[in-house]
Amino acid sequence: MRLSRYFLPVLKETPSEAQIVSHRLMLRAGMIKQASAGIYSWLPLGFKVLRRIEQIVHEEQARAGHVAMLMPTLQSADLWRESGRYDAFGAEMLRITDRHGRDMLYGPTNEELITDIFRAHVGSYKDLPLTLYHVQWKFRDEVRPRFGVMRGREFLMKDGYNFDLTMEDALHAYNRHLVSYLRTYERMGLQAIPMRADSGAMGGDNTHEFLVLAETGESEVFYDSEITDLKFGDRDIDYDSVEQCQAVLSEFTSRYARTDETHDEAEFAKVPEARRRTARGIEVGQIFYFGTKYSEAMGATVVNEKQEQVPVHMGSHGIGVSRLVGAIIEASHDEKGIIWPEGVTPFHCGIVNLKQGDAEADAACEQLYAALTARGLEPLYDDRNERAGGKFATMDLIGLPWRITVGPRGLKNGVVELTGRRSGESIEMTPEAAVSRIA
Ligand code: ATP
Ligand code: MG
Ligand code: MG
Ligand code: MG
Repeated sequence: MRLSRYFLPVLKETPSEAQIVSHRLMLRAGMIKQASAGIYSWLPLGFKVLRRIEQIVHEEQARAGHVAMLMPTLQSADLWRESGRYDAFGAEMLRITDRHGRDMLYGPTNEELITDIFRAHVGSYKDLPLTLYHVQWKFRDEVRPRFGVMRGREFLMKDGYNFDLTMEDALHAYNRHLVSYLRTYERMGLQAIPMRADSGAMGGDNTHEFLVLAETGESEVFYDSEITDLKFGDRDIDYDSVEQCQAVLSEFTSRYARTDETHDEAEFAKVPEARRRTARGIEVGQIFYFGTKYSEAMGATVVNEKQEQVPVHMGSHGIGVSRLVGAIIEASHDEKGIIWPEGVTPFHCGIVNLKQGDAEADAACEQLYAALTARGLEPLYDDRNERAGGKFATMDLIGLPWRITVGPRGLKNGVVELTGRRSGESIEMTPEAAVSRIA
């Protein structure tokens, strides 16, 4: 992409309405614009990051054997009356009446809708196990939308639902989700710690939240510091293996790690004092096993081997896709701006032309652009007629992992400058070497 043809409305001033750094930086970097309270337009740069995150989510869901689909944002109130949640959900649910006077709602989550699909089409244990998921916009009329996309009213969520014959099978689905979430977050450059949580309105009692530690997090968390040494890394897990998934769950949940909702002082006191940590965290996902709560209420049954009708065991598993954009920035920035982890960066590399209009510099930039593109990388070329200082400030603000600086002086010696955003280190090298280094 050439910056002269892009739409990157960066702000010079720090917006006063933004209380936390990720919100400030997303506004300054021209990633989002508020449409109304807690509702945002995703401008091109923000949209690109959102799509990268969504893509990682899809890839990891596929790896775990889960099946993608898409359900609508608007739902009929009738299904929610069947499950008993229409009234229980309260003011967070945006209720809408259509022209025929039918009660509709903007879905805050999809247990009812997916259970309705399941009961219409699946009747035998032979079709299980099954996990369906989608990535779709949700609406919750939060009392206090704030912190930009972190607590929006309209937000993008991946939500997946497992259907299993037995509790045992459903617990394997739970463990499988835990494993795949660990991988998902690490690919985004995040450490998200599974913590024992409270099941709230979803029902059931087997649940973990995934939290990214950050001072601006809304949850208070308590944990054994040993847990932060755990890395999932590049393990090759067989997602069908009950033993392998169980082993990962045990490894990542055996140390004390809880949110304030389930925190237990007596249990926490058993952690050696030097390892006891109290901090704040951002909830970026949650997994639940809730058994037959919805399948019984809504008649989602299958016949088992003995030809008996039995309600299926279910769970639901969510990732806050749009919240993650903010969470990643909270975890990765400096005083100059965002520092994107490679996995989610909107462009792989910036090209800064120090002397736009200089035939040699222009040609070198074009060549770099072509070479990077040929390697499957997406560069953002700042081809505007602006001062170097302004171009550098924009690149630092939008946080691409690499910057190649091209100027007539370097080119005389056959070199350009490659700068790493995180390290801040600059090295002179040939354009070819810079391309290889990035790729
Ligand atoms: P919170 O405790 O932050 O209100 P939640 O527990 O109500 O979140 P879940 O029902 O578990 O949310 O939804 C799954 C994920 O969706 C959450 O882990 C979070 O990452 C994301 N999410 C929930 N509410 C919002 C929101 N208002 N804005 C952005 N993301 C959200
Ligand atoms: Mg909530
Ligand atoms: Mg929560
Ligand atoms: Mg939650």
